[in-house]
Amino acid sequence: AMFDNLSRSIEKAQRLIGKTGTLTAENMKEPLKEVRRALLEADVSLPVVRRFIKKVEERALGTKVLEGVTPDVQFIKVVSNELIELMGGGGPGAKDLEPGFPQIILMAGLQGVGKTTAAGKLALYLKKAKKRCLLVATDVYRPAAIDQLVKLGTAIDVPVFELGTQVDPVEIARRGVEEGRRLGVDAVIVDTAGRLQVDEDMMGELRSIKSAVRPSDTLLVVDAMTGQEAANLVRAFNDAVDISGAILTKMDGDSRGGAALSVREVSGKPIKFVGVGEKMEALEPFYPERMASRILGMGDVLTLYEKAETAIKEEDAKAAVERLMEEKFDFNDFLNQWKTMNNMGGMQMLKMMPGFNKISEKQLYEAEKQFETYEAIIKAMEEEERTNPEILIKSMARRRRVAQDSGQSEAEVSKLMAAFTSMKSQVGGMSKFLKLQKAGGDPA
Ligand code: GDP
Repeated sequence: AMFDNLSRSIEKAQRLIGKTGTLTAENMKEPLKEVRRALLEADVSLPVVRRFIKKVEERALGTKVLEGVTPDVQFIKVVSNELIELMGGGGPGAKDLEPGFPQIILMAGLQGVGKTTAAGKLALYLKKAKKRCLLVATDVYRPAAIDQLVKLGTAIDVPVFELGTQVDPVEIARRGVEEGRRLGVDAVIVDTAGRLQVDEDMMGELRSIKSAVRPSDTLLVVDAMTGQEAANLVRAFNDAVDISGAILTKMDGDSRGGAALSVREVSGKPIKFVGVGEKMEALEPFYPERMASRILGMGDVLTLYEKAETAIKEEDAKAAVERLMEEKFDFNDFLNQWKTMNNMGGMQMLKMMPGFNKISEKQLYEAEKQFETYEAIIKAMEEEERTNPEILIKSMARRRRVAQDSGQSEAEVSKLMAAFTSMKSQVGGMSKFLKLQKAGGDPA
């Protein structure tokens, strides 16, 4: 089907290349074409596709290719990450409505996109969050639109403010918000008139309503089926009324949702909700991960990547478990661990890395001194004390002897016992964690 090509080229690449180190202009060429095609098929506007691809290409260049996958798969993983990041990242909480007392939500959009429906859905959504709402009908050009909102309001048991068709929409909006304040509601949702196309009258009216009610949110309602035009539409509305976000409707249909990317790329504003049906309940918070996967339509490829990633993690964990489980953690191990952690070269290298140059010469010196002290004490132990730390920890006489033999103070020996116990419990905790993880249990 759609990605047969891609699957074939992945197989080919797997045979030909095997493990390739990084993404290069050469090995990105083919998957780049596939991604471009996928985005256009998803109705992402062409200029948006161009800008996006250019950015991803720059970002991806030089990216390390995960062991077990081909450059194609790695590239698509980069694209997917970039899509998610661009469309908002984080969970639904990141795209919540703006606060306000009351929240005033202005709905904008062309006619037929599902604006009035979305106003009702939002009211129900807020109602379920224990917020009281008032809906305001300002579409004086279509009496049917006012009736529609009144019906929706009745159905979800939310009051609707309307003044018929003979009053100026700006005035209705203003008085609607006043009424909301009088009623003490938490949110006022102002539905507005749409036109079949972007026109100056509509934008002028929206601007006037906006300055009259000073909304906390101005949401542009966009039909997911809008296709290539979405970018221009979003630009026009955003330029005119500076939207705070968008609601993407009719995502229950066939649309791959490319409009979501266009909205974000053009306006920089988040998609806050997604409409997924005609019912009032059919409103969901926006999940960038889901949308990215839908737009890209390359779920299989990403699953491949995740499998490889999991395999590697499991391998690492298995090796670590074995190491840890075998480990009878004693003073020799302690010394080794400490050496690994604090070895001279390691510390010096750390110092040269950005962010770590705050490690002072003094700290380095102290770490080395401490190591020398511990080393001296451990060397002065008898073999059975070194491999069986309990006998030393329990016997004050033995500790005193070790202190004397090593030329260190008893306080230093106690310090070593404490450091040892702490490291041992860390290692033990790690081992337990890994054992549980291996058994498929929840380590928490
Ligand atoms: P408005 O002119 O922008 O206010 O649009 P309406 O709210 O009247 O909606 C236009 C049509 O789209 C109606 O038939 C709605 O039932 C339908 N609609 C709205 N949102 C959705 C949605 O998320 N999914 C589907 N399938 N239909 C929707």
